[in-house]
Amino acid sequence: MSGRKPTDEELRARLTPEQYQVTRQRGTEPAFTGGYYHSKDTGMYLCVCCGEGLFSSGTKYDSGSGWPSFWQPVAAGKVESRRDASHGMIRTEVRCGNCGAHLGHLFDDGPQPTGQRYCINSAALDFRPKPERR
Ligand SMILES: [Zn+2]
Repeated sequence: MSGRKPTDEELRARLTPEQYQVTRQRGTEPAFTGGYYHSKDTGMYLCVCCGEGLFSSGTKYDSGSGWPSFWQPVAAGKVESRRDASHGMIRTEVRCGNCGAHLGHLFDDGPQPTGQRYCINSAALDFRPKPERR
């Protein structure tokens, strides 16, 4: 499914209203409400729209912000960032590098080694746990 760009109609039918609003209308879920905020499970976070792997649980950390936070995407180019001057603030918007879904925002107050904080809505992500090794 990687590399596929879902249509707006398909997403409207498949996503929950909150997922649709966040990813297609650049919404933000209320802080501390997202299903993945507290998750410490091992696995991969995929774009809820297109299934592209975006963030690994290994780079997830508790930023105290109320949203899942990562200090690095799984690979360069998996996400794209662009200047966002909405809501009277200059921020950096983070989008899925494959389908353009809005994910959240990027800040420069994250932990080392990158110093970056990818502040991502749970509603924009789909978590796939890593299979247990026997
Ligand atoms: Zn995507």
